[in-house]
Parts: sequence; C-alpha cells; structure tokens
Amino acid sequence: MTFSSKSEEEKTEVVYGTEEIIKRVLQANLNLQDKLDLFEDVSGQFAITSTDILMDSFIKAKERGIKIRVITEINTDSLNYSKKLTQFAEVRHMDGIIGAFGVDDRQYISVDTSPIGSLPQQAIHSSIKVFVQQQQYLFDSLWKNAIPVEQKIDEIEKGMRIEKIENISDPYEIRAKYIKLLKIATDEILLIFPTLKSLHRQLQIGIFKILKENLNRHNKLKVKILSPFQTDPSTSSLQFSNETVSENTFRELGLGNTSKYKNNILFRNIEESLSIKSTILIVDRNESIVIEVKDDLRESFFDSIGFGTYSNSKSTVLSYVSIFESFWLQSEIIEKLKRSEELQKQFISIASHELRNPIQPIIGLTEILKKKTTDKEQQKLQDMVIKNAKKLKQLTEDVLDITRIESQSLELHKEQFDLHELIQNVVSILNQIQKEENKYDTRIEVKSNEERLNIYADRNRIYQVVYNLLDNAIKFTNKERKDDGCIGQIIIALEKKDNDIIISFKDNGKGIDPQIFPRLFEKFVTRSTSGGTGLGLFISKSIVEAHCGTIWAENNKDGKGSTFWFMLPLK
Ligand code: ADP
Repeated sequence: MTFSSKSEEEKTEVVYGTEEIIKRVLQANLNLQDKLDLFEDVSGQFAITSTDILMDSFIKAKERGIKIRVITEINTDSLNYSKKLTQFAEVRHMDGIIGAFGVDDRQYISVDTSPIGSLPQQAIHSSIKVFVQQQQYLFDSLWKNAIPVEQKIDEIEKGMRIEKIENISDPYEIRAKYIKLLKIATDEILLIFPTLKSLHRQLQIGIFKILKENLNRHNKLKVKILSPFQTDPSTSSLQFSNETVSENTFRELGLGNTSKYKNNILFRNIEESLSIKSTILIVDRNESIVIEVKDDLRESFFDSIGFGTYSNSKSTVLSYVSIFESFWLQSEIIEKLKRSEELQKQFISIASHELRNPIQPIIGLTEILKKKTTDKEQQKLQDMVIKNAKKLKQLTEDVLDITRIESQSLELHKEQFDLHELIQNVVSILNQIQKEENKYDTRIEVKSNEERLNIYADRNRIYQVVYNLLDNAIKFTNKERKDDGCIGQIIIALEKKDNDIIISFKDNGKGIDPQIFPRLFEKFVTRSTSGGTGLGLFISKSIVEAHCGTIWAENNKDGKGSTFWFMLPLK
C-alpha cells in the first residue's frame, strides 16, 4: 500500500513481513548520510541485537562515520542487549518505552509492537518530509530527557547487590565479621578507635597482624587510622604523633619495619573527648561495621563491646566515609594549630627576653651617670632618657601581655595575699612619683571596712590592674583640676560582697570621653594627650576576666569625673 504526496520521491508505505522490513532497514542504513536516530522498546533492542545482519549494518554505518543515537529502556532483563547497542550508538535510557522507530535525514520507519523475542511483522515507511520532521522533533525532545546509558547500567548493577543493614549482638560474631571485612579490603580501610584503651584491645585481637597480611597481598591498599595516640609515657608505651609513627611503635603494633608500610598506613590523632563512642571500620567504601564501646574500662574486646551494626547500604557507608573524612581533616587542622601555638609561645619567651634586656641597663646606667654629675642641664637630659626608657619598658611589657592574651597563654600564678596592703603599696608608689615629678597634686584616699582583705589571685597581675586604674585616674584628673584651680581627688573603695570583692576608683577628673566610651576596654582605644597607647584597660580587662571577674566604668552622676570598678572572686 502506498500513499504518494506531491513529489514523486516523497511517499508513505505500509510494509508487511519481517523479511521485507529488514530489507528496508538495511537499505536505509546503506544510504545514511550523516546520522540516524532510533527509538526502541525492549523487543526492538532484542530484534536488532539478536539479528547479526542488522547488527553488522549498524556497526558498518558507524564505521562510515554515521552518528547513531538510541533511546531505549534499560532494565535488568534488557541489560545485555543495551550493552550491545553501545557498540554502534550513543545510548540513553527512558522508562516505559513501547514501540520502535528509526529516523534519518530523509525517511523514517516505524514498526509494530511485537512481543519480546519475536521480530516485527508490520511497519510504516515514510519519506514525506513533514512527517520525517515531526518524527525527528519527537525524537529530539525525548533525547533531552533521557538518562545516559552508563549511569543507568551502573544503577542497575549496584542495585543487583542486595543492600542491607544488620544488627549483631553476639560479640564473637561481631569480631568474625570485623576481621572478615579487614581481610577482604583491597583498596582502602578507614578505621576509628574512640579511646586509647580500645586501640589496645585491637592489639589484643590481632588486627594489626591482619592488616599486615592484607598489605602484603595488596600493595595498593591504603589504611587510615584515627585514634587517640599521643599519650602519657607513664601510662602507655604507644607514642604516636600525626603520621610520623616511630619504628618502635610499628614494632609494637606488630607491623615490623616502618619503611615497608609507612606509605600505606597513616595515623592521625583524635581527642578522646570526642562524641564518638564506637569503633568504626569502612572498607573499600562498600561496607562498614560500627561496634559500640559499652564499657571502655574492660580489658577484653569481647567484654567491652555492645551492639555491632554491619551495612553495605551505599548511603550508610558513604555517610560514615564523610564522618571519617571530616575527623581526618579536623585532626590535621588541630595539629597545625598546636604547632603554630607552640611557635608563638617560643616567640613570646624569646622576645620578652630580648626586648626587655637592653632597657634595664639604659635606665640603671643613666641613673648612675645622673648621680655623678652636678650639671643641672645634663641631669635634665638624663631624666629625659630615663623617662623615655621607662616608657619603652612599659610598652614592651604591654605588647608582650597583649601577645600572651591573644595567644591564650596568659598564665596566672595564684597565691594568697592582702589586697588592702597591695592597694596601699600602689598608692604610695604613685604618690612618690607625683612628688618626684613635682607637677600636680591629686589626693588619694583608700576606704575599706576591713583591715585585711585576703584574696587568692595572681599578685603581680592584680598589682598591674590596680596600678593602671589608679595611674589613669591620676593622669586624667591632675592637669584638669589644676587648670580649674580645684583639688584633684581620688577615692578608692574596697567592698566585700558575699564571695566577691569590689574595688572602685572614683576620680573628679575630666570624665570618660563619650566618643570612646562604647569601646573603652578594647585595645588601642585612647584619648590620652600624653602619648597613651590604649593598651592599659584592655590588659586590665583580660587579667580581671582571667580571674573570672568583671570590670566596668561610668561617668559620675554629678558630672565630675568617672568611676572604674572591678570585681574579683575572693577565692
Ligand atoms: P591609655 O591610658 O594609654 O590611653 P588605657 O587603655 O589605660 O590607655 O585607657 C584608654 C582611654 O580610656 C584613655 O586614653 C582615656 O581616654 C580613657 N580613660 C581611662 N581612664 C580614665 C579616667 N579615669 N578618666 C577619664 N578617661 C579615662
């Protein structure tokens, strides 16, 4: 039956019989110009791949440079046919395909739906341009939504392995499964031991021996172990540091020669305090077993463990892989941080020595020189040297303190002492300085209900805070009051409240500049006209807080001056 259109070459025919259909397809294949698109259900795939003569003609077309695309349904039954199609075509998958057609530049052939295993009996063969174009349009839009063959085959092949998650309660069965997994690994073993004791129990059940045997069989196998390693030498002989495991340790683990395994077996440290409370083993990113540590105090592996959970489910195993990887990375970062902290501490101790050392002789020697001369002019110059050297000394101390605070290495040396007495000392030293400088006179008064006020704290550091607050109070009171023609006055009050002590420094100076008030205790915040660095209050705050205390300030309600407080626990 033939339906001719306007032009002679353009026609649509119904073709009967398998043989005739094959003949048409072979003929069409021979005449292909540059491409062919096929849409095939499972029986279409069968028809093509099981008929040698058809397979051959497609392969030949491909060899001639014809680009062939196939959309088909790939499932467990058709998997082998689908793989054959890839010999000549780029294949994509679509669910639920029924029917089959092929379209090239000039024609299309659409065949009837035959049951799987049999060949088609009827077909429509058309070269009418508009129909060919329609068919082509249909194919192109289906192609866009179809899945690449590799992806689908991969999914099917993985799915054919039955995924399961198994809970095992018998400790002997858990160990058997655990050891079996260690033995079958070929590419990668990831292990987490949550505590040092659990690592020791691993030695007991001989896992390092198994690892060694496996490493001997598979030289590409990589083993990564996360465990608390760095330990107190008095409690354990196992000494590890990240990835640099001593020969001794390898020997202790039964691994023998370090050089032989050091590229295959990597160790990193994790802290025992981590929330992981299970031994975790993941092999080849395919299977995992998680063994609960129920009683870490037990010596025996069997007595210490709870449930074991085995899984070969892709999502479970990959979740454990990502947990492992994040701990692995975390361990590296912590190790780097520790190293840089160590360097910083070394710097502080070297710098404090090197910076301080030359200043003291400058002050001392200039003081000697000053005593030897009677020349007023020279004495004045020497005073300037001393004053500036002292400033430099203070600045050095402050900068070192800041470094200590910021690297969290400010150490407190606490002792019992009388705070009242300490404050009196600071007052007399600062009074002395005021007198020596002979410039201004601010009266300082100390008020306390108690004679003695015992406190347990770092004496030198508290001295530093008191000195700094009183020095500031004098500094920001003296000049202003003198200019006003009034008397500068500072009242230091000590008050015991429950288990705390509150110390206040009230002055009648110029008050805190409103512009810096919100940032008063931050570093480098200063409004001092006499070359202040803005470090004093920051350091004072850090010292008080290191003692679990608080520090704060307010401008006085009467509009004259300000008050600084700090509170410390007595013990
Ligand atoms: P510095 O005194 O070197 O500037 P501080 O950290 O000790 O550094 O003080 C920061 C700033 O806080 C001072 O510059 C000053 O503006 C303000 N300040 C501190 N104490 C007082 C005070 N008693 N009265 C007024 N302002 C003060």
